[in-house]
Amino acid sequence: MEDYLKLLDEAYREIKKSEVKTRFKIPIIKSRVIKNKTIVENFFEIVTTLRREEGFLIKFFSKELGAPISLNGTKMIINKIVKEEVLQEKLKKFVEEMVLCKVCRNPDTKIENNTMICEACGATNVLV
Ligand SMILES: [Zn+2]
Repeated sequence: MEDYLKLLDEAYREIKKSEVKTRFKIPIIKSRVIKNKTIVENFFEIVTTLRREEGFLIKFFSKELGAPISLNGTKMIINKIVKEEVLQEKLKKFVEEMVLCKVCRNPDTKIENNTMICEACGATNVLV
């Protein structure tokens, strides 16, 4: 009986561990197209969730989409018509490359001097 409880306890702890890893959800982009521009309505929300500087995301999106980007209050304005699915894909790429720890996949990371530092496992990764 004791062994069984121990097993149960271990199993429970494993579940807890994986919960931490999957708790993080990539934000869903809300965008609309006006004339020849695409407006990301919830840009500020995304930036806050990902804990990255606005300029960091803007630079990434601008490079990925090949278009100039500006900020308008809490919204991001892309000087190009971009489908929402494409934006979502790019955001996923950003999260994979710039937010999640390469070692433990934890989103609790920060960037200092072009290096991503994981606050969970301590791993460091130089960004290219
Ligand atoms: Zn880590």
